[in-house]
Amino acid sequence: MTKTLDQLLTQQSFSREDLIRLLSVKGNDTQKVLDRALQVKAEAVGRKVYLRGLIELSNICAKDCCYCGIRKSNKNVHRYTLSDEEVYAAADFAWQKGFGSLVIQSGELIAPAFTNHIERLLIGIHQRTNAELSITLSCGEQPLEVFKRWHQAGAHRYLLRIESTDRELYYQIHPHNSLHAYEKRIEGLKNLRKAGYQVGTGVMIGLPGQTIENLADDLLFFKSMDLDMIGMGPYIEHAETPLYDRRNLLWPTEERFRMSLLMIAGLRLLMPDINIASSTALETLDPLGRQSGLLAGGNVVMPNLTPVSNRLDYMLYDNKPNLDKDPALSTSSLNEVIEAIGEKICYYEQGNSQHFLKRQG
Ligand code: SF4
Repeated sequence: MTKTLDQLLTQQSFSREDLIRLLSVKGNDTQKVLDRALQVKAEAVGRKVYLRGLIELSNICAKDCCYCGIRKSNKNVHRYTLSDEEVYAAADFAWQKGFGSLVIQSGELIAPAFTNHIERLLIGIHQRTNAELSITLSCGEQPLEVFKRWHQAGAHRYLLRIESTDRELYYQIHPHNSLHAYEKRIEGLKNLRKAGYQVGTGVMIGLPGQTIENLADDLLFFKSMDLDMIGMGPYIEHAETPLYDRRNLLWPTEERFRMSLLMIAGLRLLMPDINIASSTALETLDPLGRQSGLLAGGNVVMPNLTPVSNRLDYMLYDNKPNLDKDPALSTSSLNEVIEAIGEKICYYEQGNSQHFLKRQG
């Protein structure tokens, strides 16, 4: 006999068919799934929100991902790299405000100078903040040795988004060459685990040609790789990218938004104790997107601390929000809006992944 949605939502484990069913709900049933995910989050990790101050270090990238506004071939981008002073000012701000954690994100470069640069920043940040901030890197695929060096220098977590775990779809959104090889992405995730990181990845939701089955498989991939943290959100097109040519295949933005919330909820049900970001891309599609992501099971938000003058140059997709708000303004109302939905920001806490800590024993 077919299970009812209520029966499905009380399960502790989920098959591929269950996940497809959860992601296929419509109308009022959507809210039912989101509400159950919020309940599971409350039980597993509490209604707590951890802050990661985001520093977009550089938009210089050697890669050409077909969806990305700062891809190498986009000649309309003004390229920049923040000075050490700018990075330290952002780190100081996060530390003084009690953020507990930073994310340093950058285009991908594999070069000794880049390795040294990141290492220097990690050491510098820890020195000036009493090593009280936990640091996540999101600086692309690197050799295992580089992952190890950065971990040694004080990076605790690493986010390497795969964007789609379906090999065919992956090659529809990345050039089919060795620089963008699917297998290297998977190997990168495994190497991050070997190097000792809390490992994170993520996917885009609503890519041209993507199916509900693809999304269910993404969730199962996260589970099979035993990942510690996930950052995923709606695909938002950028006009100066090759993928823009396929925009006629896109789901309407409201549907991409709804599916993104369902994916967060499905993931929370599948992996109750991991960290899940409520992504900035959600806010692009809905002014209340960040709060909606938290109410669907997310527990991490990433206020942007990049200097305002550089934000326009870090446009991975069009209409990115908060381009003109300085860090103080982006964060001042945060407490208010998050408390208003019944969540609590955990200041002065690093917010490590419970899942990771349990695995460490
Ligand atoms: S998604 Fe990342 S690796 Fe790909 S082009 Fe953009 S910045 Fe570079």
